[in-house]
Amino acid sequence: MSLDKVLAHVDADQDNALARLIELLKIESISTDPAYAAECNRAADWLVDDLKSIGFDASKRETPRHPMVIAHNDATDGTHVMFYGHYDVQPVDPLELWENPPFDARVEDTPNGKVIRGRGSSDDKGQLMTFVEACRAWKEVTGSLPTNVSIFFEGEEESGSPSLVPFMKENAAELKSDVALICDTGMVEPNTPSIVTMLRGLVGEQITIKGPSKDLHSGMYGGPSINPIRVLTQALGALHDDNGRVTLEGFYDGVPELPAQIAEQWKNLDFDEARFLGDVGLSKPAGENGRSVLEMLWSRPTAEVNGIWGGYTGEGFKTVLPAEASAKVSFRLVGQQDPVKVRDAFRAHVESFLPEDCSVEFHGHGNSGASGMAIDHPAFEQARGALSDEWDNEGVFVGCGGSIPIAGHFQKIIGTESMLIGFAQDDDSIHSPNEKYDLRSFHKGIRSWVRILAALN
Ligand SMILES: [Zn+2]
Repeated sequence: MSLDKVLAHVDADQDNALARLIELLKIESISTDPAYAAECNRAADWLVDDLKSIGFDASKRETPRHPMVIAHNDATDGTHVMFYGHYDVQPVDPLELWENPPFDARVEDTPNGKVIRGRGSSDDKGQLMTFVEACRAWKEVTGSLPTNVSIFFEGEEESGSPSLVPFMKENAAELKSDVALICDTGMVEPNTPSIVTMLRGLVGEQITIKGPSKDLHSGMYGGPSINPIRVLTQALGALHDDNGRVTLEGFYDGVPELPAQIAEQWKNLDFDEARFLGDVGLSKPAGENGRSVLEMLWSRPTAEVNGIWGGYTGEGFKTVLPAEASAKVSFRLVGQQDPVKVRDAFRAHVESFLPEDCSVEFHGHGNSGASGMAIDHPAFEQARGALSDEWDNEGVFVGCGGSIPIAGHFQKIIGTESMLIGFAQDDDSIHSPNEKYDLRSFHKGIRSWVRILAALN
C-alpha cells in the first residue's frame, strides 16, 4: 500500500526534485582543478544539509583533497544498503562548444523528450539525486525508510580518487553493509534497466627487445645480424591462434562460462552487432570464434597490442637494423583470472621467442583482476524484479568492458558486494560539452530506487 503512495508522491513532487537538482548542478565542483576546491566543498555542504533535512545523520569528512560525505539512517532493521555516488564533475572545456553555460543548468525540449542540460547532470549529480529523492519520498510519506540506508558520496572520482582507498580502509567498519548500490552507470538500451555485475580487469606491460649494441646498416650487417623488430613481431604475432583465442599458457584458467540465465538475457537484448561495428567502419567481429559481440565485450578476456615502435619511422627511407624494438601490450581480464599469473605467462611467452644475442626488458603498467558480483546474493534478483516493475522491459544483468574501481574496493576492502545500477543513456555526452540527463531517467530512476528499497527490505 505504502509503495503506491510513495510512488504517487514522487510523481507529485517532480518539479521540486528538479529544482533541487538544478541547485546542485549550479555548484562548479570540478575536482581536478585546485581553483574549484571551494566549490567542491560547497557541493559537499549542500549534500550534507539536504540529507540532514530528511533525517539522515550526515557529515562531511575531510581528506587531503576534497571531502567525502557520509550519512546514516539506521532507524529500521532489514538489509543495510550503502549507496555510492560522486558529487565532483569533469572540467568543461572546450567551453565554446557548449550551447549554454555548463553550470547554468536548465530544462530543454529535444526530439527525444525533455532533458536537464548541464555539467554533472548525468555524471553523477543527476544520478545520485535519484537515490536521495527516493529516500525523501519514503520519509515524507511514511516517516521512515523501508530498509537500513547509508550514503557515501565522493568528491574526487573524476580526478583519480586519490583519497578513496585510504579513506575506505580507515573507515571500513563504518562502511560495512550488506550490499553497496553504485549509481554511476547507464542503461544498455533506453527502456532496459541494467545491473552491471561483471567488470573486466586490466594488465598493462611494456616490453623492449634488445639486440645489437647499436643501430646497424642493413647493407653492412643485414643477414648475419638479428633484428629485434623481427623477434618482437614473432612474439606478438603468436599471442592469438587462428580462432582468435589467446595462446598464453594458462590464460583461460579462471575464465567462467556465462551462466545460462545471463546468456538468455543477453540473447533477448535488442543489440545490433552490425550497427555497433558499422559505427566504427567495421563489419566482422575479430574476437574468439563462436562468441557473440556482447560476450566478447562483457565476459571474455582479451590480449591487445596498443603500440609498437623501433627502427626508422620518419620521412623518406633508411635501411637501419635497429638495436631495439618496443611494444605496449594490455590484457582485459574476467572472472578469477589472476593478473600476476597472466603477466608472468606473457613474460615467459616473450622470453621463449628470444634468440641468442637478444635480451628483453619488461616494465609493468599496473594489474588488477576483474570484479564479478556474486549474483546469487538475494539482493540481485530483488533489485532486478523491482526494476522490471518500473520500466517497459525486464531488468538485465550486464557486463562492462571497462573498469569501475569502486566496485572492487567495496569487495576487497569492505567485503561487500556491489550492484551497479544507473539510468544514464548512451547519448548523455558525459565528460563532453552539452552533457544532459533525460528527465524520464531522472523521474523513473527515483521511482526505481523507491521500489528497490522496498524490495530489499
Ligand atoms: Zn561518474
